[in-house]
Amino acid sequence: MSSPALKIEFSKISNLDKITLIENSLVVLDIDETIMTHREINGNWWKDKINFYLEIHHKFELAQEYAYNDWKEYVMSTPPELINYSSFFNFLQEINNKNCQLIFITARNKDLENLTIDHFKRLNLEFMIPNIYYTKEKGLLLKDLLRLKYQNFNNIVFVDDLIENLYMVFFEIGCEPDRQLELYQFIKE
Ligand SMILES: [Mg+2]
Repeated sequence: MSSPALKIEFSKISNLDKITLIENSLVVLDIDETIMTHREINGNWWKDKINFYLEIHHKFELAQEYAYNDWKEYVMSTPPELINYSSFFNFLQEINNKNCQLIFITARNKDLENLTIDHFKRLNLEFMIPNIYYTKEKGLLLKDLLRLKYQNFNNIVFVDDLIENLYMVFFEIGCEPDRQLELYQFIKE
């Protein structure tokens, strides 16, 4: 008899301070469209850009690359904003109160590190700069971090606006018997 496949479960939230943390959790946040945003960027912005370039180039990878370049140009010239200032700072307080560790995993390319540092400084979040990781393979990186750096954390909270990132994390660490993983999709109001 085969065991039933584990099914991914996640909650949708629009305010980070709706998350109730367990003591000593590792909290992993995405950056873009989870804590910060650039006025014009949202899911539709990406969809429109990719469709626009698909019509010209007829290749998804190419369209993605061109869209990413446009995004890069836009975020380099526009200051970021926190999505919900008070909710985010309440959540930081909760992280502190519950002795949790906060890290960020972003799919921004590593060549955007200086820009990202600048964004965090502009938002007075410079104390978090050492805790930013850059990768598109969020699940694999988190798995490595848990093995090499954060071995003592048994509760993991992962928040991202993109479902595919929730899947990647679930796929890599969602079935570990001694570890509890809570997944949240962040949806901007
Ligand atoms: Mg994001």
